Amino acid sequence: MAIEQLGFEGMPKRLYPCTPSRLNTWLDCPRRYRMTYLDRPKPDRGPPWAHNSVGASVHNALAGWWRLPATDRTPESAGRLLERGWLTDGFRDAAQSADWRQRSRAMVERYVAGLDPADEPVGVERTVSMKTHLITVQGRIDRLDRRHGELVVVDYKTGRRPLTSDDARSSLALALYAAASGRMMRAPCRLVELHHLPTGEVAVWEHTEDSLDRHLRRAEDIAEECGQADEWYREHIAPGAAAGLPHAEFDAMFPPRTGVLCGWCDYARHCPEGRAAAPARDPWAALPDEV
Ligand code: SF4
Repeated sequence: MAIEQLGFEGMPKRLYPCTPSRLNTWLDCPRRYRMTYLDRPKPDRGPPWAHNSVGASVHNALAGWWRLPATDRTPESAGRLLERGWLTDGFRDAAQSADWRQRSRAMVERYVAGLDPADEPVGVERTVSMKTHLITVQGRIDRLDRRHGELVVVDYKTGRRPLTSDDARSSLALALYAAASGRMMRAPCRLVELHHLPTGEVAVWEHTEDSLDRHLRRAEDIAEECGQADEWYREHIAPGAAAGLPHAEFDAMFPPRTGVLCGWCDYARHCPEGRAAAPARDPWAALPDEV
């Protein structure tokens, strides 16, 4: 049970609500964090990305597949679900979209052919949350399995880069999901897995109580920084005044953190430093060469 921190007047201090995505966005780039979570009205985003369409279509098909009766969980039904829910945003043209629909269909069919349809996950796209004495963190797990009495966090990946156990070990999101699942279900949850659908490889890490605790402390540290920045923003920025305004103090609190990721940033159009740091990418540029 979480112990809430006491404020100055003896009142419980409000826990900082966050998601792994919010914390990671702050780490990646405070300016992008500001535009994603604080500026209102929200700045216009760039065009949608084709790789996000592939990722969302595949995730939706797999979630739908697990919701079918076990007897209907066949590779063909996974392929049908993929076709039915195919998202077309971000592709160069209809031909590229159709090509990727076929590739993605083959990818999910290949993946589910290696699963036991009789297995019943504990959760599919399951929302989990937990509190510490500083934060309340929430997120959605692609799949939560129970194997040999322990819970296992499964995250599907469709990007082009193959993944390693180090990716699974260092993932803040996976660790927070494992910690939250273990607390919510009152069962051990140490294993986290990244299932890379393009290659069929699974990157695994087994956490310990200590390593989960280190991730939680890290989440609290990041949340403390975010919380201070949020507070500063509320005090200094009038509603509606933020978007596009140059402001030295503003940039000191939410500095641009330029790098190769700027080429993929949804808000690069509002960020001269980011546009100078990396060329803009075509919306389909992150599609893997081979699947
Ligand atoms: S373009 Fe780069 S520096 Fe600018 S907001 Fe995006 S990630 Fe940050």
